[in-house]
Amino acid sequence: MRVSEICRYCGGVIRLVPAEKVYQAATERLKQQRQWIYQCQNCNARVGCHRDSKRPLGNVANEVLRLKRVREGDLLLDRSLKPGQWRSLTEEELLLLTGPLSG
Ligand SMILES: [Zn+2]
Repeated sequence: MRVSEICRYCGGVIRLVPAEKVYQAATERLKQQRQWIYQCQNCNARVGCHRDSKRPLGNVANEVLRLKRVREGDLLLDRSLKPGQWRSLTEEELLLLTGPLSG
């Protein structure tokens, strides 16, 4: 896959930059040292690269596409789940979403 040089969101220029430039102090915590990111220099739309390569992981995504839901009402996302992984809700968690069932 090849990344366009022009951002599909804003028409800005997309450049390959070191992940440190994007993640700054969080680079080490996110394990992104020596990694590369294609980033729109205007709107910050971006996509990371496969480990130890400059091959993009997919298409450049803007802030909205990168949003991740971590909470629904009082129910918080199970932090032990990896991306794409799922588990059934417990009865207690289900009640947090539906409230007590009546009748
Ligand atoms: Zn852009």
